[in-house]
Amino acid sequence: MNFGQKQVEVKQNQMRREAALKAWSTIRLNRIKEIKKRNESLESYMFNANSRTITFGEYKIATPLIKPSKLTNVKNGGIGKELSDGWAINYAIGCTHACRFCYVDNIHKRYGEARVGNAVHKAWGNYFFVPNNIDQAIEDTNWSKWKGIEVMMSSTHDAYLPQLLPITRKILERALPEGVKFCIQTRSPLAIRDFDLLKDYKSQIRIQVSIATLNHDLARVVESRVSPPEGRFKILEKAKEVGLDTGIIIAPVFPSVKIRPLPFEDLENILQIVAKVRPDHIYGESLHMRGSNMGEIEMALGERPNLEGFDKKMQRAFNILLKKYKLEGVWWPDF
Ligand code: SF4
Repeated sequence: MNFGQKQVEVKQNQMRREAALKAWSTIRLNRIKEIKKRNESLESYMFNANSRTITFGEYKIATPLIKPSKLTNVKNGGIGKELSDGWAINYAIGCTHACRFCYVDNIHKRYGEARVGNAVHKAWGNYFFVPNNIDQAIEDTNWSKWKGIEVMMSSTHDAYLPQLLPITRKILERALPEGVKFCIQTRSPLAIRDFDLLKDYKSQIRIQVSIATLNHDLARVVESRVSPPEGRFKILEKAKEVGLDTGIIIAPVFPSVKIRPLPFEDLENILQIVAKVRPDHIYGESLHMRGSNMGEIEMALGERPNLEGFDKKMQRAFNILLKKYKLEGVWWPDF
C-alpha cells in the first residue's frame, strides 16, 4: 500500500469512527427516552436482577433448528471467529444474563416484535421467550445433515440459563447420536450438569466459557446477573476432568474505567489462571461498539469508556502475556 492509499484508509477509518460515535449517541438518547416512556426506572434497567421485572413468554420456533452463522473463520465465509463451521443453534428470544456489553438486543428489537410482540422493547435481559413447539421442532430437524459439522450453541443466548436446561438437554440427546458437533459457549456453571452426557461424545464437543474481567466491581456492573467469573474456570476444570475439548474467550476486555483502572493487570490476572487451567483454545477480544451496547455501558458505569487505540494496544498486551505464560491463543481484532 502506498502513502496515498494509506492516507485514504486512515481518513476512511476516521469517518467510520465518527459515524459510529454519532450513531452511538443517537441510540443512547433514544434508549433513555424509550425507558422513560415505558416507565422503567434507570435503576431497574441497569441493576435490578429481580426476575419479577422480566417478561417471560412463549413463541413458535421455525425449523430446522440449526441456522447459518457468520461466527466462523473467513475461509467458511465468516468474520474470523472460530466458533463453528458456519452454523448456530438458538432457541430463546432474550438472555436473562443481561450483560451490558451484549449486542444481541438490537437484533430482537429489529426483528423480534413480529414474533413475540412489543416486550422486546423492554431493557435487554428483561424479556425472555422460549419455544412452545420445541419437541416437534427437534423431531422436524434433520440432524444427520450436520453430521461431523460444528454448530455453535448458542450465539444469541446462553444455552445454560436455568429456564433452558431441559431444552438444551433434549437437543443434545437427539443431535449427538446423529454425529452433530457442538461448540457450547457459556457463562453458566449449570453446564456441568450435562457433562454426564457430553463425556460420551468427547470428539463432538468443545466447551468454552467467556470471561470479561476478574475485577468483581466491574463484573457486578457489566454482568450483574452472571455468577462470579472464577466459577467459569471450574467449568473448564470439570470439563477437562471428563476429557472434553475446552476453550476460553477472554472478552470483552474493557479499557481503563474508574471502577477498574488497570486493564493490563486485569488481563494478566485472567491469563495467570488460564496458564494453570490450560484450556485447549484461547481467544481474546476487546470491547467493541456494537448496536446500543456502548450506551448501556456508559449508563451503567457513569462514564464513556475510551476505545481510541485500545484494541491494538490490548492485542499487543495479549500476545506479550501469552508468550510470558507459554500459552497459544488468538486475538480477534475489531473489524
Ligand atoms: S450471556 Fe451472552 S448472549 Fe447472554 S447477555 Fe451475556 S453476552 Fe449476551
